Formats: sequence, C-alpha cells, structure tokens
Amino acid sequence: MKNFDINKVRADFPILRKQVNGKPLIYLDNGATTQKPTKVIDAIVSYYSDMNSNIHRGVHYLSQISTDAFEVTRRKVQTFINAEYEHEIIITNGTTHSINLVANCYGKAFVHAGDEIIISAMEHHSNIVPWQMLCEEKDAKLKVIPMDERGVLDMEAYKDLLSDRTKIVSITYVSNALGTINPIKEIIRLAHERNVPVLVDAAQAIQHLKIDVQELDVDFLTFSGHKMYGPTGVGVLYGKQKWLNAMPPYQGGGDMIKDVTFEKTTYNELPLKFEAGTPNIEAGICLANAIDYIEEIGLDQIKAYEDELLNYATTRLAEVEGIKFIGTSAQKSSVISFVIEGVHPYDVGVILDKLGIAVRTGHHCAQPVMDQFHIPGTVRASLAMYNTKDEVDSLVEGVKRAVNMLK
Ligand code: PMP
Repeated sequence: MKNFDINKVRADFPILRKQVNGKPLIYLDNGATTQKPTKVIDAIVSYYSDMNSNIHRGVHYLSQISTDAFEVTRRKVQTFINAEYEHEIIITNGTTHSINLVANCYGKAFVHAGDEIIISAMEHHSNIVPWQMLCEEKDAKLKVIPMDERGVLDMEAYKDLLSDRTKIVSITYVSNALGTINPIKEIIRLAHERNVPVLVDAAQAIQHLKIDVQELDVDFLTFSGHKMYGPTGVGVLYGKQKWLNAMPPYQGGGDMIKDVTFEKTTYNELPLKFEAGTPNIEAGICLANAIDYIEEIGLDQIKAYEDELLNYATTRLAEVEGIKFIGTSAQKSSVISFVIEGVHPYDVGVILDKLGIAVRTGHHCAQPVMDQFHIPGTVRASLAMYNTKDEVDSLVEGVKRAVNMLK
C-alpha cells in the first residue's frame, strides 16, 4: 500500500490556500464539485497555450496533436473503469448529458407504451426527469424502488418491481444527498436475470470507489469530470458495445456522420456516432490529467482515508445538540447530511460561510428524498481526499456556534 500524504495532497490544490471572510477556506461542498489540482489547472493553460485546435477533422499539426490528446483521454477512461473496448467510451458534457443520451436513444429504440422503467427513491433529479420525459412521450410507467428511514433501498420491493414489462433500471451508485452506497452488483444481477439492462449513475462514486464495469457487468455507467478533480463541461457515458450499436444517435451534426446528402445521411461508427459537434476539447483532454492524479494517489488509499474521515466527522457531529443525521446506512461514502431541531439548514450554511466553511444547504437536487423525510432540505458536508480532521473539528465548532446563535 502506498502512503497517503495529506500535506502533499493539500499542497497540490492551490485554492485550499485561500482565505474566505478572513478565515482559511474549509471546502466541504465536494458533492457539488471538487477543487482542481495544479496538474489539471496547468494542463488547461497548456492546452490553450500550446495546442488549441478543433479535433477529428484537421490535417494540420495542431489538430492532430489535440485529436491525439483527446483520444488519450478515451483510452485512459477505458483503463480506469476497465471497459472492454475504447469505442464504448462516449465523451459527453457530464452525467446529466450522459443520462439524457441513454433515455433518448435507448428509449427511442426499446421503450414502448405500457413498458416500465425502474429508478430508486434516492435519485438525483438528473436520473429522474429524463426518464419521466421518456415515459410521458412513450406512455410508459416510472417505478420507484422505495428506501427505508436509514436511506437503504428495499431490495425485496425491487425484486417485486422487476417484471417482463421492465425495459431498463437506472440507479445511483452513491447517493449525493445521503451518502448511501447501493448494492449495485446485486441490483445488476437481478435485472440481468430478466435480460434487463442497468444504468449506474456513478457521479458521486467514481472519485471515491474503484469501479470495474466488466466485473459489475453494468450496461451503462455515467459520471462527470468536475466531481473527480477534473474540468467542468466534460463527462463520460460508458455503454456496452451491443447496446450502443443498437441505439440510434442522440444529436445530429458534425463528426457523427459518415456521409450526408439531402436524401439520406449515414452515421459514423462508435464512439463518434454519439459525439455530434465540437465537444469541450480542453476539458476532454484535461480529464486525463485528473484520472492520472487519482491513480497516482490510488483509489484504495483515497477510500481508506475518506472512510476514516467520514467516521470521525459522524462521531464528532453527533455531539451537536438536536442534530439528526439524514442517511444512516452502514454502507456510506463521503457525505454527511443533517438537520438540527428548530434551526433552518440555510441559516446554518450562512453562518458557516462567515467562518470560511463551505457546505451545501437545500435539497441537493434530490427533492423526493427530502419529501420522504418531511424536511425542506439538509446541511450537507461532503468530503474529498484533501479534507482533514482539523477541518472537521472546525465544522463541528461552527455548527455548535450556529446553533447557539439561532436557537
Ligand atoms: N447524479 C448524481 C448522484 C450527482 O451527484 C450529480 C451531481 N451532483 C449528478 C447526477 C449530475 O451531475 P452533473 O450536474 O455534473 O451533470
């Protein structure tokens, strides 16, 4: 096992040296987006200084080197998640784009009136709304796996929901609102018993857990660069070749075609079939640097460190009078959501901000989760590999102070 050197990790993130409201920044909003290491920031500057050019179309030098760099990312993602083929990696704008792509293209080919789509009670809006839109269009039904008061999915209910009418299951790996890690392998196994494909939303998992798509046997996997220490505006859709080949393209435009006449267009091969138009080239290229960074440190080390920090934060926050954790599954990753009796989450967030502490308050784009717990929102502290126990101590002191002021 490599050593996890927290001081070295922190030194890699320039923004962590910033002061906010006269206090050292304590950034605990990693579920919204992560900060970027120098390696990624430098790569972005270097792209615009040294190679800016459009990709996949020019014969000139700059276009060739930027195309090569973009394709390096594709191969790096392939290795990172252990996909069988490079062309199973579609570069998108982010998780939301990836899920909409599958809902549209898989939906067009395979979902018909009376069919059913299964999601869960803890989904991010981006894994609810695209499926709702599809169901409306196709007169299909959306079925929801319920969860209990700990934020754990009811697997018996899931088994009952699966039927011959089920066309796809789309589930988050880790809940961004609760931190629950779902038993994704079992969810996939059960769906496959009925030949139903599964999409796993890994936006909140890819930066915390090692993911092997072949080992999971997952059909589609989605994630965003900005939540894994990479640039904003780039994401990934992994899809098994057999599904991607069977799906019609998403958007029409440049790059996704083979031949265009006014009578008929033929489409490009994978992966370009799903990559119409000029992508976010700089972000696509620099996602490779974020993956390099994660791999240099090692996901095993990152997970071990973050799990210890999560346990510490949970124990320490429990000292706060009137606190109630939302999401108490034994299987959790890096997210602590809580409410405090008699205090509005937003007010806690504002006071913490005055202390230089960034948390998220509200429904975290998972309004049905809040509805189930009969709350308007939570305070969410979401951890990353650069957070420390000292920062957690400051959070606890800050929350105690907020409670004293507000009660
Ligand atoms: N799913 C989950 C679980 C998420 O945490 C997020 C981002 N918070 C998304 C989907 C959407 O990701 P993006 O906004 O990057 O498309």
